[in-house]
Amino acid sequence: MTPHFTFDNSYARLPTRFFTAQPPTPVAQPGLIRVNERLARDLGLDPAALASPEGVAILSGNAVPDGATPLAQVYAGHQFGGWSPQLGDGRALLIGEIQTPSGRYDLQLKGSGPTPYSRMGDGRAWLGPVMREYIVSEAMHALGIRTTRALAAVTTGEDVFRERRYPGAVLTRIARSHIRVGTFQYFAARGDTEALQLLTDHVIARHYPDAETRLDLLNAVIAAQADLIAGWMSVGFIHGVMNTDNMSVAGETIDYGPCAFMDTYHPDKVFSSIDRNGRYAYSAQPDIAIWNLAQFATCLLPLMGDDRDRAVQQATDACHRFPALFTDAWLARFCAKLGLAGEEEEDADLIHGLLDRMAHGRADFTNTFRRLDSDARDGFDDPAAFDTWATLWNARRARDPLDADESAALMARSNPAIIPRNHHVEAAIRAGLAGDLAPFHALSEALQTPFAEHADYADGPRADQEVTQTFCGT
Ligand code: AMP
Ligand code: MG
Repeated sequence: MTPHFTFDNSYARLPTRFFTAQPPTPVAQPGLIRVNERLARDLGLDPAALASPEGVAILSGNAVPDGATPLAQVYAGHQFGGWSPQLGDGRALLIGEIQTPSGRYDLQLKGSGPTPYSRMGDGRAWLGPVMREYIVSEAMHALGIRTTRALAAVTTGEDVFRERRYPGAVLTRIARSHIRVGTFQYFAARGDTEALQLLTDHVIARHYPDAETRLDLLNAVIAAQADLIAGWMSVGFIHGVMNTDNMSVAGETIDYGPCAFMDTYHPDKVFSSIDRNGRYAYSAQPDIAIWNLAQFATCLLPLMGDDRDRAVQQATDACHRFPALFTDAWLARFCAKLGLAGEEEEDADLIHGLLDRMAHGRADFTNTFRRLDSDARDGFDDPAAFDTWATLWNARRARDPLDADESAALMARSNPAIIPRNHHVEAAIRAGLAGDLAPFHALSEALQTPFAEHADYADGPRADQEVTQTFCGT
């Protein structure tokens, strides 16, 4: 039962210096972990065909579907601020671009074997990071935040060696595209203006068809990132490795490595084991986005007319608009979390007032917002501090255009009951490594409806369950 894909591989038609064409490296014994049935249907694909032996052969890289043109994309990037002139798909391949009822999507295999960009890596992925990306990216989507998706996960029947031996796995990733800020940087660093022009036209056609100029494109990418990062902040998400090669110009969350959702709130929270200086801490994310967007803007300068000073001024002005765009998006998200439809001058202070008390009171991010109207105070070390804030909040709510029921409904759809908590993700991975996939399936299923009550997944971790560090997962 061979799955049918309708491919139209526009990236493969770009000049060959954009990629290396090669097939995936076959694996010993593919085994299905999960097909994302809802996503498959949304993409016009037959989930049963994907789950069949012929489908699993494609999802593991043992077969290349008709019409595919597998390739590894080349890119560069700033990693923790340091320049890496040569990166690329070292453990992934773009299989092709599928035409679906909701548009064009990249179909990518992650963990599909070595490529010329693998450097010292083996080109493979192991079960833990594959399960993690599946769970977290699908949760992000259900939370209403733009993200790459997980269409399927399979095991390879081969071992992958990290600190020890782990079962190998492959994730099938769906994305609007896998074009990164680092893709632009690769060509800009080489002074390849022709490639930059082609790449820019490609991105405009695919993602920003309304952009008439390069400056329009820059503004659109900046606006998309401002909205995206506000979305992350609103659910306590920490990406963990916001390198420029992990920032999608399409505005989707991409590359779920050492990412994490906070349990107890603190603005300086960091989970990634390799982020020793907190460069990518929770509250640093908007500033890092500007830093990355400034790199993107710099890449576009050679395309923005002959008057270099004017181009620099325009690009600088565009980047300077990020804070206002971000603040607007952030305020909209957090006002909704407080059940407020109108916006008043002092609302930012009200939100910060709560967040400050949450940090001091070691309150759980998700549950504080979800339970503002009920027992949130009990989650604070000092419940009286919450009460003084709640007095201000209630006064503000009384002035809001929404009545009490409308406000409660807005809060219920803006404050998730569950997020992929680290201890649940880790427990699902541990069980998966021991051969029991039931916790992974159950968690994935629950996270499809994060705004409904799920008693099993709502509580923060006990002290002995707390996960304080996450790993790159390569
Ligand atoms: P990341 O930190 O996951 O964004 O990856 C950074 C770079 O390392 C990218 O160019 C990846 O393709 C490459 N890379 C990560 N893991 C592996 C691996 N296991 N094998 C080969 N290349 C890898
Ligand atoms: Mg990456």
